[in-house]
Amino acid sequence: MVYAPAPDDPLLPPVRINLLSDTQTTPSRAMRAAMAEAAVGDEQIGADPTVNRLCERVADLLGKEAAVFMATGTICNIAATLAHCRAGDEILAHESSHIVSLEGCTHAALGGFQIKPLAGARGQFSADTLRAALRPPDRHQAKQTLVSVEQTTNLGGGTVWSKPVLDEVVAVAHAAGLATHMDGARLLNACVASATSPRQLAEGWDSVWIDFSKGLGAPLGAVLAGSRDFIDEVWRWKQRLGGSLRQAGICAAACIFALDHNVHRLAGDHANAALLASRLAAIDGVTVQFPETNLVYFDITGTGLADDAFVAALRSHGILISTLGGRLRACTHLDVTPAMIIETVDIVGEVVRTAQRSRPRAEPRSSVPAQPMVLARTTVV
Ligand SMILES: *Cc1c(COP(=O)(O)O)cnc(C)c1O
Repeated sequence: MVYAPAPDDPLLPPVRINLLSDTQTTPSRAMRAAMAEAAVGDEQIGADPTVNRLCERVADLLGKEAAVFMATGTICNIAATLAHCRAGDEILAHESSHIVSLEGCTHAALGGFQIKPLAGARGQFSADTLRAALRPPDRHQAKQTLVSVEQTTNLGGGTVWSKPVLDEVVAVAHAAGLATHMDGARLLNACVASATSPRQLAEGWDSVWIDFSKGLGAPLGAVLAGSRDFIDEVWRWKQRLGGSLRQAGICAAACIFALDHNVHRLAGDHANAALLASRLAAIDGVTVQFPETNLVYFDITGTGLADDAFVAALRSHGILISTLGGRLRACTHLDVTPAMIIETVDIVGEVVRTAQRSRPRAEPRSSVPAQPMVLARTTVV
């Protein structure tokens, strides 16, 4: 479901503007210096001082008792569901969420869990939708044990779950005896966009994690937080999954640097996304979901161009974007400037006009048979 051209194709000009994902950031010189100077120890036995400092800091930021460092957000999600649920249990999550569609069926493959997909606009479901999906215990059916939300929604368009809606969802879940999990891959984007603290948005959620390898600009790392008992159980799963580390302080130092320097600047990414969206929307045939944060999803059906041809045309100009969930996605991050956005929009306009000149009566996409992708594939999340 995710297609993107290879960034390093030798037959193409180098990539100048990388809007593929906010995972495309590279660590800055200052971040690398912080990593080089990190005090380190053996993380697996709890003896890495920098990892410990990061975990305490994130636990405090999220208002939780404890936290654990992981290599990736995907491991946070699976370690959390494994700690919350038993084989045969059911997790309720939005139908477009990462745990449903972008984790290689991990929760079924490793946990034996079934995920009940919930519907709702822009990657979010309402407390009423959740309530309607709950059922009384019945031995013929999976036991419902966990509700999961994504902050911000990825395929939902980077939308922010508001505090009141989160509170309602938590109340419904807890009243029914279910635990609550927040995939906070871009939680800090949500905080910056809604001027709400991480602690507020995480309040009531039994487990919450944040990703450092997205807009925060670290090369890797995520921290999962919850009650002390929960984190003890997560540590068991971290060990079983092979996720325990050694001198991980080198990586945790990058995450601490990101918390110190790269949170407030997320507002600039959101402004760049808004600029991109408003300029794209002015191009004939382009429909844009106006972004709340740094993910811009858009549709070019009205231009008569196929998505893969459009992605390839931009790549030939040194611009990387992807298709995700049947739409085009451009992502802003700390290596993207407003000038790059303006240049991207100019080139998009040129690509669209060129296509329209050569195909004045292009058929709508619905009547065009699906074309196999001719480009190399990379996975983007
Ligand atoms: C990226 C992402 C993940 C996975 O995080 P990784 O660090 O890439 O493993 C999980 N959930 C959401 C919503 C994401 O965007």
